Formats: sequence, C-alpha cells, structure tokens
Amino acid sequence: MNTLVSLLDRLLAGSPLSVEAGVRLLQETDPGAVAEIRAAADHLRQQQVGDTVTYVVNRNLNFTNLCEQHCGFCAFRRDEGQADAYWLTEEQMLAKVTDAVRHGATEICIQGGLHPGAKENGQSLAYYVRLIEAIAGQFPDLHLHAFSPQEVQFIAREDGLGYVEVIAALRDAGVQSMPGTAAEVLVDAVRRVLCPEKIDTATWLEIVETAHRLGVPTTSTMLCGHIETPEQQMEHLRLLRELQQRNCDRGLRGITEFILLPYVGQSAPKSLRRRVGHDQPILAPVLQLTAVARLFLGAWIENHQPSWVKLGLAGATAALTWGCNDIGGTLMEEHITTMAGAQGGTCMAVADLQGAIASLGRPWQQRTTLYTPVTKALTVPSLSL
Ligand code: SF4
Repeated sequence: MNTLVSLLDRLLAGSPLSVEAGVRLLQETDPGAVAEIRAAADHLRQQQVGDTVTYVVNRNLNFTNLCEQHCGFCAFRRDEGQADAYWLTEEQMLAKVTDAVRHGATEICIQGGLHPGAKENGQSLAYYVRLIEAIAGQFPDLHLHAFSPQEVQFIAREDGLGYVEVIAALRDAGVQSMPGTAAEVLVDAVRRVLCPEKIDTATWLEIVETAHRLGVPTTSTMLCGHIETPEQQMEHLRLLRELQQRNCDRGLRGITEFILLPYVGQSAPKSLRRRVGHDQPILAPVLQLTAVARLFLGAWIENHQPSWVKLGLAGATAALTWGCNDIGGTLMEEHITTMAGAQGGTCMAVADLQGAIASLGRPWQQRTTLYTPVTKALTVPSLSL
C-alpha cells in the first residue's frame, strides 16, 4: 500500500505512469488500494480538466448494416437478402439529419458496414464523398464526424488508393473529424480472435496518424472486458499515448478523447461467449481500467468518456468519479451496441445527461465535437427533400 501511495504521489506530481506500473494497478484487488487508485484518477481529472462535465448533442447515422466482415462481437452486420438488412437512401439520411438538427444536434456521427456495392460510377470513394457532400451541402454548420479507420482502409482497398488520398478527399468533402473506432484492442493476437478480417494494429495507427497530419482529428477507443489481459490493455494505452506524444511534438491536437467501450456479448457466437464468460459488462474492472486510463493518458489525452449505451446511465455516472470528464452524446439512434444486447438504451435526453451530472454536484456544459463550449443552437435550413 505504501508503494502504491508513493507511486500515485509521484504521478500526481507529474511523473508519467509506466506500462509496468499500469499493469500492477490493473491487477490490484485490495479494496483500499482500488479506492486509492480511484481517488488519484479523480484528483488528476480535476487537476487536468476541472469539475465541469461535458456532453455533446449528436446523432448516429449508420447508413447500412450490410457488411462483408464477420467480427466476433458484432450483432449489427447483415448479409444481403436478410430480412432486416437495410441501406438508407440519401432522402432517408437527410430526413434523419434534419430531425437531429431540430432536436439541437451539433454533430452527426456517420459509420456503416463495409459493402463493396457502396459505389458511385464504379468508385467507392465517390459514394462516400457524395454522402458527405449531400449532408454538408444542406447543413454547412453541422460537424460531420465520419468513417472509422477500417472504413478508410476499405475505400482505399476498393479503389486502389492511398490513405492520404482517401482522407484528404473526405476532408475536402466536409468530414471534420473521424471516430477512432475499429481499434478494439491494438494487439494483433487479440484481433486475430476477435476481428480477424479487420485491419491490423499497425494499419489502424497509420491511418489515424495520417488523418492527424492531414488536419483531421480523431477520437480514440478501446473495446475492453473480453479476452484481453491487463498487459494487453496497457499495450493498447501505450500505443495511443505514444501516438499522441508524436502529435504533441508536431504541435497537433490529434486525438480529442479516449472512450472506453466495454464488451457486450449477448449476440456473439457461442464460442466467444463461452470464452469470455459474461455477456454484460462487469462494472468494477471497467471502472478500475477507466481510472488507470486517466492516470496513464491524462497528460496527453485529457478528455475521457464512458459509454452509457454499454454501462447504462448509472454506470456511466459512476465513471465520472473514476477519471472521466465527459458523458458522451445523446446519440438519438444507436444500433450497433443495442443489437449486441446492450441495455443502456438507444437515445438519451439532454435533461437526463444533465441530471446525471448534477447528481454528482458537478456543473455541466454542452460542447462541440472538438470540446469547445456550445453557445447557440444550429438552425434548420429550408430543405429541398
Ligand atoms: S464491427 Fe463493423 S466491420 Fe465488423 S462485422 Fe460489424 S459492421 Fe462489419
């Protein structure tokens, strides 16, 4: 315990946490020691970003659930011909965006399955560019947070292009930031079991760093609580920290936030469910990892967000006392995790997010995707739908 207290004291005084020390903190089971870790993370959060808890009013737009891949944890994907397979038309997408803006959204998060048929004049990039231009053309003030590193690689592969060309074209069309999803755990041994068809660790890092260099910030994520070990969790955090350190050396913002996404396995294949041993997240280890992520990353990635979709609002509110300073977005429509069996819901009212924050006696603030305060709502232009 004394060693732990002096380790946490050194960290609070500005000495970075090592990977080895992070593993030890993750393996700590003594309740008193875990309470010290929580208190240190909460204190560091207060030092780094203050007490205000932020949220974003946003909507998810998952334009298709048709996907050529078969990630072990994914209950969202469908094959062509399945009864509930869908592909939104441009009109349907614009109607959803209009509705979101009427409800105060400042951000649309756009991601979809990977389908080789997503083409315009035989070109995959042209389809994605048109999708963005259709929305950006009608809503120039809306922040478009779109396409994971996996989608960027898919477009590049389909069209035989480099990542720079793809990201630059999407940026020029109106993409202002990218979700750092598809990261799962950035350890190839884990990825081979969980999502063998997805991009490998090096490719994920290359695409994210390329986006940063092209002026497109990203979030960062981690899918936790399945087959990964504490050492692999720390390896993931180490790669994110080093990437952001390289960004800082270049004077770039790069990664805007870290989002911990606990595994939900209700619809996963039996073999994976047996191996993991639980379908819903186990809160205690998720909170301990939340704290260690703040302690390890906080000096470089200052915004930390839990997932209310996966933890429920009560679990996400608890995470605000373990190092998080943001409670995420309203989403308005969430399919990917809900179809996997998550019980947190698909939509969160602003008043519920504010109420959860206020229950901790902390102030709240609506933010933009890039963490500046929102001072006025967007207006809905008259549309030619
Ligand atoms: S997680 Fe994404 S890439 Fe993997 S199967 Fe699901 S939709 Fe496809």
